[in-house]
Amino acid sequence: MDALDIAFAEARRYLASLDTRPVASRGTPGEMRAPLPTHLPEHGLPTTEVVRAIAAAAEPGLTGNAGGRFFAWVKGGALPAALATDIMCSAWDQNAVLASTSPAGAVLEEVAGRFLLEALRLPSDCSYAFVTGCQMAHVTALAAARHAVLARHGWDVEAKGLQGAPVVRVLANAHHHSSVTRALRLLGLGSDCVVPLGGNRPGRVSPDVLRTALALAPDAPTIVILNAGDLNIGACDDFATLCPIAQAAGAWVHVDGAFGLWANASPRLALLVAGVERADSWATDGHKWLNTPYDCGMAITRDPRAHSAAMRMTAAYLTTGGDVRDPMDFTPEWSRRARALPALAALMELGRDGLAAMIERCCDHAAAIYDGMAALPGATGVARPTMNQGLIQFNAHDGSNISDAVIAAINASGEAFMSGGTWDGQRVMRISVCGWNTNSGDVVRTVAAAAAALRGLR
Ligand SMILES: *Cc1c(COP(=O)(O)O)cnc(C)c1O
Repeated sequence: MDALDIAFAEARRYLASLDTRPVASRGTPGEMRAPLPTHLPEHGLPTTEVVRAIAAAAEPGLTGNAGGRFFAWVKGGALPAALATDIMCSAWDQNAVLASTSPAGAVLEEVAGRFLLEALRLPSDCSYAFVTGCQMAHVTALAAARHAVLARHGWDVEAKGLQGAPVVRVLANAHHHSSVTRALRLLGLGSDCVVPLGGNRPGRVSPDVLRTALALAPDAPTIVILNAGDLNIGACDDFATLCPIAQAAGAWVHVDGAFGLWANASPRLALLVAGVERADSWATDGHKWLNTPYDCGMAITRDPRAHSAAMRMTAAYLTTGGDVRDPMDFTPEWSRRARALPALAALMELGRDGLAAMIERCCDHAAAIYDGMAALPGATGVARPTMNQGLIQFNAHDGSNISDAVIAAINASGEAFMSGGTWDGQRVMRISVCGWNTNSGDVVRTVAAAAAALRGLR
């Protein structure tokens, strides 16, 4: 067996074990270190021995999030064609930076970008970048936003930076993800520039609150950040109302749609994000609801000139791609793997109907887990999924909140993996369903694991 054969055998063994292995890893750090040398080997080891040692070291510490019963954070598995394509990408080792360094990387990325816009029902002339994750998608799209709102004030931020620039104001849904704050930090805008916006409905910005905030500094360069799916209850902003209000005031609207933007791919769920196509930029992930392997975020903007102005580089040794798009004109990275290809595979493997069916199936399973668990003694439903995220609280007979203990017991059982959160000051269990391979059998096992945990704890 050569090293690739071993890698394939290990990968197949892992995938075949997903139904029976504990979802949470039970390995100790010691078990994971044991198969590895304690210091850098003085001399190189045989290739097959290296691959076997790393497989043995990783095995006890692998989380089963590629399987059907991982509901803790927003993580999908990898669709078969996306996984296979990802493996080919590693073998091909293309540098998808310019059309000249990898014609295949550049041309296939163009096709992937086109299919992506079609899948998400966004305007076909939008720009896009395939980046490492939604975190860097925020950085990329907000760099384009920063360029555009400062250019409107005659300020060239790429040349002059932010020193002496007009102060940029960021009005953001108060339930924004912490990756938004970090993107603003990395862009030199800082977390203090955020004005959190709320309203009467949980997780949603109300139009009056936005209007009032905009009117406080009508001339300031302004970026508005809205949510397509917050990570607790999947709340989505009313884009059809809010985007025109913000844009009439000269603001750029950015949407965190890490997972929730994919609702637009389903005719049944698109209503939740109605009007989302009116925004100026969007950040989303392939490695969440599209079920590509990790290392797949997407930044999309309505303003390709602002996007490329923020990212474009020139260097004497670069040859540009002529009529083929050079990926690096839109990405913060220089060298990069051909990460658009697994996304292309996922989109082709699903097609429009398969994508909609997968999104809808996840939402149905999330509702079924919620309904099953909410009916258990001691359980109180806190937020029934409107999308694929729900919240439940568990109490003991004496009324004490045992949500964290229930989560720990379910995770220790190995049957499923859940996580907790704080909602309205109360500890709750989060239900998040994103996996292509979650089925109704997984739902039954997960509810049964919660029932067993409650029997032991109440
Ligand atoms: C996961 C998530 C992010 C961050 O995405 P990464 O791909 O982990 O960088 C941002 N926003 C929301 C709502 C998320 O769920």
